[in-house]
Amino acid sequence: MNDIQYPKGAIKCLDKGFIRLVDSMGSDDAIVQAARVSYGKGTTKVSRDKGLIRYLLRHRHSTPFEMVELKFHAKMPIFVARQWVRHRTANINEYSLRYSEAQRDFYIPEKKDIHFQSQFNKQGRDGREVPPELKEKVINYFNEISEKTFAIYNELNEAGIARELARGILPVNLYTEWYWKNDLHNIFHFLRLRMDEHAQYEIRVFAEAMASFVKKVVPIAYEAFEDYSINGMYFSKLERDLIKTRLPDRIFDDLKDEVIYRIVASLNENKNRNEIELYSLYQENGGIDCKDDFNIKWKAGNIETDNVFEMREFLQKLTIL
Ligand SMILES: Cc1cc2nc3c(=O)[nH]c(=O)nc-3n(C[C@H](O)[C@H](O)[C@H](O)COP(=O)(O)OP(=O)(O)OC[C@H]3O[C@@H](n4cnc5c(N)ncnc54)[C@H](O)[C@@H]3O)c2cc1C
Repeated sequence: MNDIQYPKGAIKCLDKGFIRLVDSMGSDDAIVQAARVSYGKGTTKVSRDKGLIRYLLRHRHSTPFEMVELKFHAKMPIFVARQWVRHRTANINEYSLRYSEAQRDFYIPEKKDIHFQSQFNKQGRDGREVPPELKEKVINYFNEISEKTFAIYNELNEAGIARELARGILPVNLYTEWYWKNDLHNIFHFLRLRMDEHAQYEIRVFAEAMASFVKKVVPIAYEAFEDYSINGMYFSKLERDLIKTRLPDRIFDDLKDEVIYRIVASLNENKNRNEIELYSLYQENGGIDCKDDFNIKWKAGNIETDNVFEMREFLQKLTIL
């Protein structure tokens, strides 16, 4: 345990770090408001707003997301800050080691986070268990180098050496602190890269904590971000060609059929139709089952509903494939 004082509302990250939301400008409403300048007014029903936000994110229409801004206060090891600072669109103000003396806050990894170098990923760790005595050694070295360099740093400070030079002796596991402000579009970009399993564990911890704040400020946009960006998938030409040539036509036909039924069920949910209208609706949307088959499937129930626009776009993609 350490006796670090965490600011109110902060989420603790790693052994001595934290992140907290200082301020925010705008919410889901600000995205909709900005988008409507380009798309025209229309209804302001929540479901429509949600559909619009999801449409914008799905189609990478990014500028409305730049209307929302969030400002964070974070404390992280310097080696994490070095990765974080690569996201160039943010506004940053960092604790100055030219002006102020360094605090004795060093990152010491927990035993569970000590792993061997991955044999497959040059940038990562792997799952092989590190023997306890080697873990102990790692922690001892982290502690030893931190204590030793901090003692030298203090000695140089006391001798009157300029702080801007004396800090050069300190290692990159020293904690630094900053205010970091960015717009939602670029925060999503940051989160997508830094919450990914390929990102280093130590920055992932901060990205995940940041995400929990973002989710509260823009719940609808965050859900869309999760659906399309985090959990969505992009296919290259090679991958698309393989899918196209290797998957039998009946798979595509089944998928199209499922989507058409979902479109009809969703349209029916929005505006209740009688039985005759339903079959026409099914045909208008490209359904090819005969009326009897349609009725059997329809009456069996449990057809899931979804966003009609999105389902139609998916149908188009399946057709292009
Ligand atoms: C897993 C992982 C491993 C990495 N490994 C390395 C590594 O080994 N070495 C290394 O050096 N970096 C590495 N990086 C950092 C990486 O290359 C990027 O610098 C970092 O992720 C920031 O991405 P970005 O430039 O898209 O973001 P930002 O700087 O936030 O920019 C966001 C977007 O704005 C636009 N933009 C911003 N500035 C400019 C500009 N000046 N000109 C034109 N467009 C601009 C770009 O479209 C950019 O995508 C790694 C990142 C990750 C996630």
